[in-house]
Amino acid sequence: MKSQQFIDLENKLGAHNYHPLDVVVEKAEGVWVYDVDGKKYMDCLSAYSAVNQGHRHPKIFNAMVEQAQKVTLTSRAFRNDQLPRLYEKLNKMTGYDKFLPMNTGAEAVETAIKTARKWAYLNKNLPENSAEIIVATDNFHGRTTTIVSFSTDPDAYENYGPFTPGFIIAKYGDIADFKAKINNNTAAIMIEPIQGEAGIVAPPKGFLQDVAKLCKDNNILFICDEIQSGLGRSGKLFAHYYEDVRPDVVIVGKALGGGFYPVSGILADSAILDVFQPGTHGSTFGGNPLAAAIAVASLEVIEEENLAQKSFEQGNYFVEKLKALNIPYFKEVRGAGLWIGLELNTKARPFTEALKEEGVLAKETHVHTIRFAPPLVITKEEIDWAIEKINKVFTTIKPVE
Ligand SMILES: *Cc1c(COP(=O)(O)O)cnc(C)c1O
Repeated sequence: MKSQQFIDLENKLGAHNYHPLDVVVEKAEGVWVYDVDGKKYMDCLSAYSAVNQGHRHPKIFNAMVEQAQKVTLTSRAFRNDQLPRLYEKLNKMTGYDKFLPMNTGAEAVETAIKTARKWAYLNKNLPENSAEIIVATDNFHGRTTTIVSFSTDPDAYENYGPFTPGFIIAKYGDIADFKAKINNNTAAIMIEPIQGEAGIVAPPKGFLQDVAKLCKDNNILFICDEIQSGLGRSGKLFAHYYEDVRPDVVIVGKALGGGFYPVSGILADSAILDVFQPGTHGSTFGGNPLAAAIAVASLEVIEEENLAQKSFEQGNYFVEKLKALNIPYFKEVRGAGLWIGLELNTKARPFTEALKEEGVLAKETHVHTIRFAPPLVITKEEIDWAIEKINKVFTTIKPVE
């Protein structure tokens, strides 16, 4: 048992800002990961949707190795030959004029916030320091001090103040509340089209359309955080496609790096992204040639392997099979594509720990919900395998109160 030594070391020497399942992963391929003791598990989290393409996808792997043999980092002080390829790919795939590259999701969210504020000062003549952005209850947009300033989760914000002003919270899914929070200083509304960390919570049908219209009518920007929901996870390329809306700004990250590398950024049209002038925003690593080469390959895999459509079909299959189990502890099965929230009427942790023992790695989010979000390359046979394990766990493990 090598695992325990790694666990002890980590507990002793690392900050305890996570409560991981005690599985020490050493290798991975596709939907499968292997621990240091050689045990095999199915990854049903996909690193919070950063590995939609499956672990170590060969095409992305090759793009990374090839690029690493040429040049990896130039900084934006110079140009490189890979970033324009990424711009072109994203433009073709999404229809947005332009892209502004960053690295992590939180940086891209910060970039969207800066974009919205600057756009509002330049276009709406707001008084200095007055811009407001309306966000939703139970949002998750990352961990920076500004972003946790508008979290409604005490774990995320407590003891991290003073907080960044300029954010107004409205009830997710309640269009009347969003409307009531708009005033002359409003620059943008920023939401997740489906809330991932909140437990795969979709708003009422029509909400995204209503938000889009509200933004248009009031000349404010509609910012959609698709970092987790996007790039095929929800069963469409972007979750906002379900309601046929076109946000002014789309934030992407996670699967844009194919699980190999942090790549993020924001998509928008020129009229918006052109608010930036040289020197007004930047990132040392953002848009580096290694990141760009990896991102292009990651996007090509999503397209070539039809991963959004696969997610849609396999997700429906997974949900049907879960519902058919008829487990009394299941309160609700929610899902969009292979992004499934299983809400229990009891605590989730004992079940995620038992699932791990059976070889299924799924993580609880908050106390009562288990998220099943395997890589989008999963097959029906592999889903059947997981369902069998899930059934076994939920028919043998007793809940704890
Ligand atoms: C993960 C996530 C982020 C933050 O991304 P990081 O890369 O962890 O900074 C932001 N928004 C959403 C919706 C996310 O799921």
